[in-house]
Amino acid sequence: MDFTFEQGPIRPPSEANSLLLRLTRNCPWGRCKFCYNYREGGKFEIRKVEELKREITGIKVISDSILALSTKLGQGDEVNKKVVDAICRDDYPESFRTVAHWLYHGGKTVFLQDANSPAMKTPDLVEVLTFIKTTFPQIERITSYARSKTIAQKRLEDLKALHQAGLSRLHIGLESGSDTVLAYMNKGVKAQEHIEAGRKVKESAISLSEYIIIGLGGKKWWKEHAVGTAKVLNQINPDFIRVRTLAVLPVMPLALDVESGDFILSTEEGMVREERLLIENLDGIDSYFISDHILNLLEEVEGKLPEDKNRMLNVIDRYLSLPLEEKMMFNLGRRMNLFRRLDDLNHPLRRGTVSEAMKKISPDMPERLDKMIRELRGNYI
Ligand code: SF4
Repeated sequence: MDFTFEQGPIRPPSEANSLLLRLTRNCPWGRCKFCYNYREGGKFEIRKVEELKREITGIKVISDSILALSTKLGQGDEVNKKVVDAICRDDYPESFRTVAHWLYHGGKTVFLQDANSPAMKTPDLVEVLTFIKTTFPQIERITSYARSKTIAQKRLEDLKALHQAGLSRLHIGLESGSDTVLAYMNKGVKAQEHIEAGRKVKESAISLSEYIIIGLGGKKWWKEHAVGTAKVLNQINPDFIRVRTLAVLPVMPLALDVESGDFILSTEEGMVREERLLIENLDGIDSYFISDHILNLLEEVEGKLPEDKNRMLNVIDRYLSLPLEEKMMFNLGRRMNLFRRLDDLNHPLRRGTVSEAMKKISPDMPERLDKMIRELRGNYI
């Protein structure tokens, strides 16, 4: 029996302990200027249902073998550290380690890769979801990335059928609610389609995560980006708003615009002001505002709307009221991965390390610091 199964390159941070099943390969769009994913792999492909079922059956065989090993090791049906260690130590294929890791973390969540599983025909996706749930009855959550364009084109009944078959959550890259920014970034979708798609997902009872990118409007459109994104989110009311911060890598098409001066990146402080404007404009929704990426400067700006709105704005205001040098210290400390919260500025050891690094950058600050921070940001994607 073939014990290998395919896995794609990325998944949301919240799916770190999920089983990754690759239903499709790459992205059907692949033109967003800020995107670096799937560039190597190229063409979008939808995998055959039979092939996927074979893989899922293979994973079940692996899972049963791991549980048998667990019993043999006197651990009953618990896949604990002892069992995982035995698999990592002995000569098991990589796929066994992957499944053991999944079972160790409960074996109850699955993430469907790559960028847009709903691009599969609905009956095919329903068949695969049903097969996953039948093969692993313990599964409680199945999630996937999706494009708004695809969801806007699906019927509500399709989404309801997917939910009934086991699809629990969709992660959608909203990125911006400004048509100007969406067009400039080649997102291939308009704000109205984002709204239509988001509302449809909500109506189908599938849980919805919308990803937004702070800084995507650059210096030119930061206000329009913040206010437009808030407006779209207000009309969708997603379960989760997940924040990312723009970082530009040379491999991204956007790097050419930055180089030519056509797109001017916002500063760290500029992006904090942008996030403030965005949160200020979020109204009438009860989403969780989540900062689950190391790229975000103020990780503690996180909470449930509307009750945590003021607390989140207060964190931002606390940062904005810092003297310039303290702000620069925090920006650098965060990008050096030494600071997570504003209180970390008072941590003597970490502050000392950042202070030393700051001394090396002067006297040309803050331009030089901004450049260095941009480079450090690029290390986190
Ligand atoms: S739709 Fe998503 S995966 Fe595809 S190119 Fe755009 S950002 Fe990248």
